[in-house]
Amino acid sequence: MSWFRRTEKGISTPTELKRETPDGLWYQCPECKNVVQTREHQQNAYTCPKCNYHDKIGSEAYFTILFDEGKYTELDKNMTSGDPLNFVDTKAYPARIKATVEKTGLKDACRTVYGKINGVNFTVSCMDFSFIGGSMGSVVGEKIARGIDHALKHKTPFLMISKSGGARMMEAGFSLMQMAKTSAKLALLDEAKIPYISLLTDPTTGGVTASFAMLGDLNIAEPGSLIGFAGPRVIKETIGKDLPKGFQTAEFVLEHGFLDFIVDRKDLKNELSAVVTLMMQNS
Ligand SMILES: [Zn+2]
Repeated sequence: MSWFRRTEKGISTPTELKRETPDGLWYQCPECKNVVQTREHQQNAYTCPKCNYHDKIGSEAYFTILFDEGKYTELDKNMTSGDPLNFVDTKAYPARIKATVEKTGLKDACRTVYGKINGVNFTVSCMDFSFIGGSMGSVVGEKIARGIDHALKHKTPFLMISKSGGARMMEAGFSLMQMAKTSAKLALLDEAKIPYISLLTDPTTGGVTASFAMLGDLNIAEPGSLIGFAGPRVIKETIGKDLPKGFQTAEFVLEHGFLDFIVDRKDLKNELSAVVTLMMQNS
C-alpha cells in the first residue's frame, strides 16, 4: 500500500495556500437541505429549485428581481431616525441605529423607489427585516407616506412589500402613529383610483399586518410566509387551546379569505404588471 505513504517528509502548507471552496459559492436550503450553486439560487429568484422554499431576501434583491434591467431610482435615500423618546434599553436607541446602519448598510427598515416593471411605471416601498427586525418606526411610516405621495403625483400604481416583526418598541407611540398615517395616505390613493398592491412576505406581523399590509386593493403573499398579528405562542396562551395545523401560514390565511392570491416569486414580476394593467384599464 505504498500510495498511502508520503515519500517526502515534512511537507507543510501554510494556511493561506490551502485550497478551499470559496465561501458563499453554495446555498443549502433550510427546508429540504438540497444544495445548489449560489448563482443558480439567485437566478431562481432565491427560491429552492427542489422544494420551492422562498428564502428571506431584502429590498435590494426584490428591486433587482422586479425592475426592468434592475434599474430604479430611490427616494429619500438618507432619511434616518431621530430619538424622540430618549429611549435606552441594553443600548441607547441612537447607538443601536448607528450600529445597525454600519452592519446592514441600510438607513432604516424601509426603502422607497420607482421604476418600470415590464414597462409599467411603479412606485415600490420594500421593508428590510435585517434592520431591527423590519420594525415600523417613524422613518418607515414617512418613507411609505412619501412613496404614496409619489404614486399619487405621478399616477403610478403603488406596491408595498412588507416583512416586519411589527412596531418599533424604541419609538413606542410614534411607531403606532405610523399605522394611522399610512392608512390615511392609502385612502387618498383609493380616492384617486390608483391601484395599491400589498405583498406580504415572510414574516408579516404586528402593527404592519394591522395597517397598510392588509389594506391593498389586492393583498397577495409569497408561499409559506408567516402572516399574523400576535405570534402563535401568545394566541395559544390567551385562548388556552391548541392551534390548527398550518396556522398563520400564507396558505391558511388565503383559505380563510384574508388574501387574494399567493404568488411564486419567480412569477411576481409578470403577475404584478399584468394585474395592474388590468386594474388601470378598468378604472
Ligand atoms: Zn428546498
